[in-house]
Amino acid sequence: MPVRTDHPRHASLSTRERLIRAHEGGIVSTAGLIAHGRGEAFDYLLGEYTHDFAIDAIEAMAANIALARHPVFVVNGNVAGLVAEDVVALSREAPLHIEVNLFTPSVMRTQSIVELIEGFGGTAHTPGDGMTTLPGVSSSRSSISVSGLGSADFVVAPLQDGDMVHALKKAGMKTATIDLNPLSRSAQDADITVVDNITRALPLIRDAVRFLKERTNEELEEISRFDNEGALQEAHRSMTERYR
Ligand code: ATP
Repeated sequence: MPVRTDHPRHASLSTRERLIRAHEGGIVSTAGLIAHGRGEAFDYLLGEYTHDFAIDAIEAMAANIALARHPVFVVNGNVAGLVAEDVVALSREAPLHIEVNLFTPSVMRTQSIVELIEGFGGTAHTPGDGMTTLPGVSSSRSSISVSGLGSADFVVAPLQDGDMVHALKKAGMKTATIDLNPLSRSAQDADITVVDNITRALPLIRDAVRFLKERTNEELEEISRFDNEGALQEAHRSMTERYR
């Protein structure tokens, strides 16, 4: 259903429509639609714009991508349905690996997401490339590729439940997430959390990676340090102050 461009909730409703189409196309799971609803609720509380604490996190994430030996961006159904094209654009800007990792085991859905990414000119790792196991994650997500997530030193794992980030950290990887809920386990566990809608954050991450290309490694090291706890407190404060 087309959303009127003058509708006050145009961006939010268009995103919802995009996700519904991706669900109908076999990219997004039914549970993914519900997870999106949780995100929407927090976006509403945030005022549906990118705050300064998110911009700071985006810069730190970009610096870590630039410094990493083997950075990996994890794509699940919702990420593919919302921002596949932006993830490919980001992977062109930095030597960033993309890995498809799904909660529900489905060869068809994995293949549809790989084809979506390839359609935008990207490539994606899947456990089919050569598999290893990530301990501590239930479901098919524990199957990861050797050449993608299995070799990562910095992982961006957005829109996940808490198990994934926790397991990646336990495996010794530095982690970042994008999550509208500052109270989620992923947000709390990650080294860097961008509390923002992934649809707004991705183009900004790409711009930040491009902008940081001119920086020296010492400058990048400085920008890569991040006080995640402080950022989450700011996100929480901004939500509660808005509705006082
Ligand atoms: P945890 O186990 O970490 O507490 P959870 O059980 O809430 O997380 P899910 O229900 O799988 O995890 O949802 C994934 C997360 O993604 C939620 O925290 C939700 O707020 C967030 N989210 C959903 N849509 C978006 C979006 N478009 N942009 C950013 N974050 C989103």
